[in-house]
Amino acid sequence: MKTKKVKRSKVITTLVVIIAFAVAGGLYWRNNNLEIVKDEPKPVNATTSTPTESPQPAFNKAKYSLTDPNSFWVVVNKRRPLPAGFEPADLVPPGVPTRLSAGAPEMQVRTLPAYAMKKMFDAAQSQASLKLMLVSGYRSEGVQRSLYASYVAQKGQAAADLDSARAGFSEHQTGLAFDVGATSGKCQVDPCFGALPEGQWIAANSYKYGFVVRYLPGKQAVTGYIAEPWHLRYVGEELATEVYRSGLTLEEFFGLPAAPDYQ
Ligand SMILES: [Zn+2]
Repeated sequence: MKTKKVKRSKVITTLVVIIAFAVAGGLYWRNNNLEIVKDEPKPVNATTSTPTESPQPAFNKAKYSLTDPNSFWVVVNKRRPLPAGFEPADLVPPGVPTRLSAGAPEMQVRTLPAYAMKKMFDAAQSQASLKLMLVSGYRSEGVQRSLYASYVAQKGQAAADLDSARAGFSEHQTGLAFDVGATSGKCQVDPCFGALPEGQWIAANSYKYGFVVRYLPGKQAVTGYIAEPWHLRYVGEELATEVYRSGLTLEEFFGLPAAPDYQ
């Protein structure tokens, strides 16, 4: 009897467990189906966010200093001079064709733009068979003073101010800017450079190497200079790409005051 009772209670327990599972399973199935039914008439324009749809983070315009003369983002213009006597510490010859002898200080730039310049010149050669040359790179405050004085002597101050900076106000003094030309010497630091295959290649591709064409056409009221398709300024690939896509000057991109003249 004892064993029979035990057997019977085991059978009952098993049945109870089976029924419980069956009921739970039924409820689960019903709930899921109700969910599906509830979700069925989704509006067509329902906004569901998935990881692939999340927007790109906004470009951080405050990432680097615009005033530190050693910053790759420093903005120098007729209203934003460099600290008196500023000299960059890491000037090097970039190992590209140069207008003057390769050892001349004016044929040097800072390390990163030197590397980027070499890469860009090699690409122009391999992709488009164009031979580029470094026309003018770093200029000390003293060299800039003599250069500006020679332009003033040639054409007067008003004309000189349109395409030459006064000492202490030149991007060339940062070691981050340089004038590019064709090795042929054609249209050297002349507006016609923009129409040459070399000038057009530079306009379309220099941003990929971290350079911006600093003085754009129609922006004299902002930059203070006529269009200079030969004057490139290193800012790094990230910023150069953003600025290139915006079609803006550095002043406009960063919301800085226009610098049409000296105050
Ligand atoms: Zn220049």
